[in-house]
Amino acid sequence: MRVSKYFLPTLKETPSEAQIASHRLMLRAGMVRQEAAGIYSWLPLGFKVLQNIEQIVREEQNRAGAVEMLMPTIQPAELWKESGRYDAYGKEMLRITDRHKREMLYGPTNEEMLTAIFRSFCRSYKELPKLLYHIQWKFRDEVRPRFGVMRGREFLMKDAYSFDVDEAAARRSYNRMFIAYLNTFARMGLKAVPMRAETGPIGGDLSHEFIILADTGESAVFCHKDLVDMPAPGLGVDFDGDLQPLVDERTALYAATEDVHDEAAFMEVPEDKRLSARGIEVGQVFYFGTKYSEPMRANVTLADGSEQPVHMGSYGVGVSRIAGAIIEASHDEDGIIWPMAIAPFKVGIINLRQGDEATGAACEEAYTALVEAGLDPLYDDSDNRAGAKFSRMDLIGLPWQLIIGPRGLKEGTVEIKERASGERQNLSLEAALNLLRSKNVSAI
Ligand code: ATP
Ligand code: MG
Repeated sequence: MRVSKYFLPTLKETPSEAQIASHRLMLRAGMVRQEAAGIYSWLPLGFKVLQNIEQIVREEQNRAGAVEMLMPTIQPAELWKESGRYDAYGKEMLRITDRHKREMLYGPTNEEMLTAIFRSFCRSYKELPKLLYHIQWKFRDEVRPRFGVMRGREFLMKDAYSFDVDEAAARRSYNRMFIAYLNTFARMGLKAVPMRAETGPIGGDLSHEFIILADTGESAVFCHKDLVDMPAPGLGVDFDGDLQPLVDERTALYAATEDVHDEAAFMEVPEDKRLSARGIEVGQVFYFGTKYSEPMRANVTLADGSEQPVHMGSYGVGVSRIAGAIIEASHDEDGIIWPMAIAPFKVGIINLRQGDEATGAACEEAYTALVEAGLDPLYDDSDNRAGAKFSRMDLIGLPWQLIIGPRGLKEGTVEIKERASGERQNLSLEAALNLLRSKNVSAI
């Protein structure tokens, strides 16, 4: 992409309404625009980031054996009356009446709808297990939408739902999602710690929240320090094998959110390993048994001919919140620092002398080579001064900058800068391109 053809409305001033770094930087980098409290447009740069996050989530769901589908944003109220949650959900639910005076709602989550889908097609234990997910916008009329996309009212979520014959089988589905989440967040460069959590309005008795440690996080959390740097299981995990030991490794050490925190158990953690911190919830997994299948009569026939409500779990990832969470975890005073896997463009090309023939030709050559290498470059071919190009490139946080100007070219070199470390090297154009090609991997 060329800056001259792109839509990149970056801001020079720091917006006063933004209280935390990620919100400020998303506005300054021209990623989002607020349309109403907690409701955002995703401008082109932000939309690319959102799509990259979504794609990693999708790949890891698929790898874990979940099957993608799509449910609507608008749901009929009847389903929620069946489960008993229509009144219980309270003011967070956006209620809508259509022209026939039918009660509808903008879905805050989809347990009821998927339970209804399941019961209309699946009747026998032979069809189990089933693990389905979608990535869809949700609406929750939060009392205090804030921190930009981190606590929005309209937000993008991946939500998966599992159906199993009994509790033991349901735990295997739970473990699949648990391990998939560790890999998902690791691919995004995030250290997400699974912590025991309360189940809230979803209900049930087993739940973990995946938490990124950050001072600006809204949750108070307590955990064993060793959990923070524990490596993810990796993409070679056999999801059809026994995942329990991998899960146990993470759940043996103390980690809990404020709501279920047990001070006595925490005191048993050696003092130098005790971490009490703040965090951002990027995902949550629940096993809730027959909480919805029982009232909604989602039954399956077992081998002995008896009928039982199906055992269920649900598994959410805050896709749009993660855009903010990554920036919270990875920025400096100059701007965002994207991990390679999430970066909206992997390389920024800076033309130091727009209009100079040799510089233009070298930039074009680099641009073509990087496009061919799949590195999706953003070429700043604008008439801005070099200083303005530098600061804008730092602000939008592309992992690599390729800086090309007449002085270097005379000596046969271009400059390459790594955004994260600030390290610069002068190399021939060919060597610089080779270096960039070698970085085009999404690490875990
Ligand atoms: P929170 O405690 O932050 O309100 P929640 O526990 O109500 O979140 P879940 O029902 O677990 O949320 O939803 C799954 C995921 O969706 C969360 O882990 C979070 O990442 C994301 N999420 C929830 N509410 C919001 C919101 N208002 N804005 C953006 N993302 C959200
Ligand atoms: Mg939650």
